[in-house]
Amino acid sequence: MSQAAVPIHDPVGEDEPEAPFALGGGKLQDREALRAVPLRSAPKPSVLDAPLTTLRGAGPKLAGAAAEIGIETLGDVLLHVPHSYRDRAAPRKIAELRIGEQATVEVTVRSARLRRTRRRGLTIVEASVADSSGPAKAVWFNQPWLAEKLREGTRLLMYGKLDRSGFRVEEHELADDGTATRIHTTGLVPVHPASEGLRARWLREWAWQALPLARHAVEPLPAELRARRRLASAGDALAAAHFPASLAEAERARERLAFEELFLHQAALAARRQGRRARQPGIPLGDRGKLVGRWLESLPFELTSDQRRALGEIDVDLAAARPMQRLLMGEVGSGKTVLAVYAMLRAVEAGYQAALMAPTETLAEQHAVTLDGLLSQAPTPFALLTSATPAARRRNALARLASGELGLVVGTHALIEAEVEFDRLAVCVVDEQHRFGVRQRAALDVKGPPDPAGPGQAAPHALHMTATPIPRTLSLTAYGDLDATVLRELPAGRKPVKTWAVGEEKRAGAYEFIRERLREGRQAYVVCPLVEGSEKLEAKAAAEEAERLRATEFADFELGLLHGQMPARQKQEAMQSFAAGETDVLVATSVIEVGIDVANATVMLVEGAERYGLSQLHQLRGRVGRGEHSSQCILFADAGSELARRRLAAIESERDGFKLAEVDLALRGEGEILGTRQHGLPRFRVAELPDDVAVLTEARREVIALLERYGSLEAPELGPLMDAARRRFGDERSEGIHA
Ligand code: ADP
Ligand code: MG
Repeated sequence: MSQAAVPIHDPVGEDEPEAPFALGGGKLQDREALRAVPLRSAPKPSVLDAPLTTLRGAGPKLAGAAAEIGIETLGDVLLHVPHSYRDRAAPRKIAELRIGEQATVEVTVRSARLRRTRRRGLTIVEASVADSSGPAKAVWFNQPWLAEKLREGTRLLMYGKLDRSGFRVEEHELADDGTATRIHTTGLVPVHPASEGLRARWLREWAWQALPLARHAVEPLPAELRARRRLASAGDALAAAHFPASLAEAERARERLAFEELFLHQAALAARRQGRRARQPGIPLGDRGKLVGRWLESLPFELTSDQRRALGEIDVDLAAARPMQRLLMGEVGSGKTVLAVYAMLRAVEAGYQAALMAPTETLAEQHAVTLDGLLSQAPTPFALLTSATPAARRRNALARLASGELGLVVGTHALIEAEVEFDRLAVCVVDEQHRFGVRQRAALDVKGPPDPAGPGQAAPHALHMTATPIPRTLSLTAYGDLDATVLRELPAGRKPVKTWAVGEEKRAGAYEFIRERLREGRQAYVVCPLVEGSEKLEAKAAAEEAERLRATEFADFELGLLHGQMPARQKQEAMQSFAAGETDVLVATSVIEVGIDVANATVMLVEGAERYGLSQLHQLRGRVGRGEHSSQCILFADAGSELARRRLAAIESERDGFKLAEVDLALRGEGEILGTRQHGLPRFRVAELPDDVAVLTEARREVIALLERYGSLEAPELGPLMDAARRRFGDERSEGIHA
């Protein structure tokens, strides 16, 4: 849009090529009036559903940038609360200011002109301005369009700093009475989380515009609870969070909104859990029988005490009349598979069927091999079902599963296809559960046998496994609707992986170190940097690195390549030849995070380690240290920041995956943990974990109290609450572990 289109009453509007708006050009009430807006009892949620573009200044381009950070409606604008506030106080007099002082002044423009510096091509707008105490020169850098707009007589509020060459303006707005908002330069100025394409000033402006609608926010909290906890209305809390009178008020408002958010989330989880229980009865499997008892005794190792405890919990679940919904968390190598096989054998022993689903073919195949080994003392036929299974074998397996002849099946997503029918499926295990969508994980639930007691179907017991530890502080949000078991203890004999985070100066030495290990007969992994959002680029970089290493550092050795873009067959071949010892070094992307188990591989080199989350690094290095030899992990990392340094120090010294996850969380904040989505964690808009963990605990307690009082969250009195909970947390993205 050309500058000619700039509204005439907005002589100093900031540059916005697309849709300039009038700062304060609307008929908005001022802040005081807003605070006094009474709570209306008739909510009109539709008003807040209006698109962002109904606001002044929100053209398609900015709206696009806003959508990228989750802001699409007016309601979204209001829920996008500031992360901090700048206290810009009240306007001061020019004559009072000392050199170097930062302040807001209220001035009248006398004249303005545009200058360009010859060097570096900077543009400078200089205006001569004055207030009642005297004149000053105001200076703006790189905002050439202002020269035109700063007409004589324009009244301005300017926040900035007085230095020897004049008053350097950081932010300004019109001071004209009647239209001015005074939200940018005086008092507590909110700073909203912004992005590259969307400056905080716009978000502030939009929040101000949308604020009169805050009173239309549905009040989801039950009145009794609000009264007892002395919580402000949703509308008042929103107003105070965006434009508070004091920092204390802002914090109270934020906490009130965080409480609401976490409360709604807990309510959504509880409702889901309850619904599932009410909907589908389970299949009580009774006690452990002789067959499984003998199988346990035949295992070539002693179970760890964590494994024994998990076994007991699974026993209780399986004996119950409602389906097991258990999350089994244990880091790589903690021995989750034995427990999975145990649960499955319990089903078979009781005359039922069981299924194990893994996210990749490789992993499914590996499970098949493990199963073969673990079942050697209790021979039980099973089928492997993936998209690579030949048609004839597939038909045969499907027929035997449907007839009930086959008790066990291991596979990939192929298992949840409609044509896969079971006769009596009683246990399903989902490995690396976070790699499945919520609906995929739930798809096995509907493959249970008819309910003997009623017209419906019974749901199989479900065991969800994950090697990605969820920090304790997040556990309530992450699996609030599941029972959880944690395997912390690693089986005896597991050796810690000595880990170093190093810089480029150690590169030559690192390769020499690896060559020495290779000469001793060991094998090594080289893991290439993560490229966020582009598996293609990641694959390309890995292929190039393999070429480079093949021609230089590891010219005397056999190199393999593994990345996510390779066809399944090639991947398989790469892994097999590495497992067989035919290749010495496997250059890979993070795809090796799951599913490779080569005891002879004892060294890992990770490039660009600072790009990985700590949990991810920990999982990666779990690929070594699986055999009798001592193992090492060398992390090449750019420890440019203090944060990076602390994270790398943690991975060097900490061996406990759960502690590392906590460290990651503490250092980076919940929203930023790489792979937050991996955990199946919801994204919160206001609440911040772990900081808000106390609020979370309170919210959870209140939801439990409601459940006790009403017996069900479906009580009519709780309608607005549950509507809001579903609106906010009904989509897959924010669901818990299990739908
Ligand atoms: P993960 O939790 O990563 O799936 P696995 O179940 O694959 O771990 O176990 C890793 C290896 O440890 C397997 O070879 C398994 O047989 C072995 N293992 C499991 N439990 C024990 C134990 N209690 N003692 C010794 N080895 C064990
Ligand atoms: Mg496993």
